[in-house]
Amino acid sequence: MGEDASNAQALHILQTVFGYPSFRGQQAEIVDVVANGGDALVLMPTGGGKSLCYQIPALMREGVGVVVSPLIALMQDQVDALAELGVRAAFLNSTQSFEEQVRTEWLVRDGGLDLVYVAPERLLTSRCMDMLAESKIALFAIDEAHCVSQWGHDFRPEYIKLSALHEVFPDVPRIALTATADQQTREEIIERLQLQGARQFVSSFDRPNITYRIVEKANVRKQLLDFIEGEHKGDAGIVYCLSRKKVEETAEFLNGSGIEALPYHAGMESEKRSANQARFLREEGIVMVATIAFGMGIDKPDVRFVAHLDMPRSIEGYYQETGRAGRDGAPADAWMAYGLQDVVQQRRMIDESEANEAFKRVQGAKLDAMLGLCETLSCRRVQLLGYFGQASTPCGNCDTCLTPPQAFDATVPLQKLLSSIYRAGQRFGAAHIIDVLRGADSDKIRQWRHEQLSTFGVGADLSEAEWRAIIRQAIALGLIAVDHDAYNTLKLTEAARPVLRGERRIELRHYQKPARTRRQPARS
Ligand code: ADP
Ligand code: ZN
Repeated sequence: MGEDASNAQALHILQTVFGYPSFRGQQAEIVDVVANGGDALVLMPTGGGKSLCYQIPALMREGVGVVVSPLIALMQDQVDALAELGVRAAFLNSTQSFEEQVRTEWLVRDGGLDLVYVAPERLLTSRCMDMLAESKIALFAIDEAHCVSQWGHDFRPEYIKLSALHEVFPDVPRIALTATADQQTREEIIERLQLQGARQFVSSFDRPNITYRIVEKANVRKQLLDFIEGEHKGDAGIVYCLSRKKVEETAEFLNGSGIEALPYHAGMESEKRSANQARFLREEGIVMVATIAFGMGIDKPDVRFVAHLDMPRSIEGYYQETGRAGRDGAPADAWMAYGLQDVVQQRRMIDESEANEAFKRVQGAKLDAMLGLCETLSCRRVQLLGYFGQASTPCGNCDTCLTPPQAFDATVPLQKLLSSIYRAGQRFGAAHIIDVLRGADSDKIRQWRHEQLSTFGVGADLSEAEWRAIIRQAIALGLIAVDHDAYNTLKLTEAARPVLRGERRIELRHYQKPARTRRQPARS
């Protein structure tokens, strides 16, 4: 098939089968490569339109497109949606009856399907491989391809065995797709799936219309209210909280303050939850207060802001949640408040989880990256995109670009802090250590005779809030570890030594008093 003819056919299918006027981003090129028998690796953010990249080539090529996906729960929906468009699709997974399975296998052999979705553990059974050997295969699509990566949190051992597909069916084109694009994952996908010859398509992860802002937590409800009233009165938005209780309380608080808000979390009755979701989608100007249970598959274009009252566990999570803002391309805000407690709580959740050490290390590294984004003195977007392996220049549309944070040489205050922790015997939490630094008169100070410590009162020049900001950053930087006892005891790490010895200078972000948020430039 000539290139022009192939392009014309792809566009024709896009319009007549899927009902869209034109391809988005790199879709046309990707479809072209795969339709003509080439391999492709596609890195595209969630919602970017990955599905069409294999669905259309499957319709263009002779035989059935075999889609490997770990998302068994979504297969039925995907197949139903395709059926509605007149595409002949089915799936093979452990949820179906033996009869259904046999019928689908028969359809595959008989050339009666355009697409078949298969769970990875199913695909590699000899029964399934035999079936494929007797069928005409248009292509293999390996969805959620980052599952081959041990570095990622979705690692699935069966994915590694998918390299067998290429060995058994060397002439069938393969397309691997994922929304996780860091360099390490990408390299692992290529190596493990033997995709060295594949064309790589890396879409931009940038969402230029989203303004990123991360503020220090003080009175978080008031900060949220100021933000919504000052900049998003009457707009639809999502407020993410970590716990169900906080979801309920925050929704109540907003309603009491004249902002129409609905709660959404997994602990609610499912009817109530769907009713709230339906209202959010249908009505205008509703604020959804939710746990991260909310958002999967939500496609509301005019969400004007996403606010986080608690820090997400990873940049992937932050990116996905903030990405629900401004799908229509008009300006939108990603606003987050975070503080010392977030750092302590997240570290604690990792340490106390039942997971194995390797997993905890990965989670710890992800948390560090998230903290790095919160504490950065340079452009948030550069940092965010850099995490996904994308280089960029300062954006001019994030808080650190618009009002550059002030840095200061924090070496001396850090030395005061670290030696106070040390001299008090590494057995106290942040509140008491701040009392020592500020020379406070408390029962606990007297009880432990801490007024006699040489560091007592050496930090009186800084406010409590300023000290909290310094402690938070010291934890983020790994100079201090937090014990997971009832007091969140602060301890020094190895990394604290060079600072105490004066061998390492450290710059920190200046504590900024929470000000009333500035007004956004008018939207066009
Ligand atoms: P992903 O798998 O990358 O998360 P999907 O394939 O589910 O994304 O697509 C996300 C949404 O974008 C879907 O609603 C899809 O129908 C829509 N979409 C994809 N490509 C196009 C296009 N070329 N034109 C219009 N809408 C599109
Ligand atoms: Zn910026």
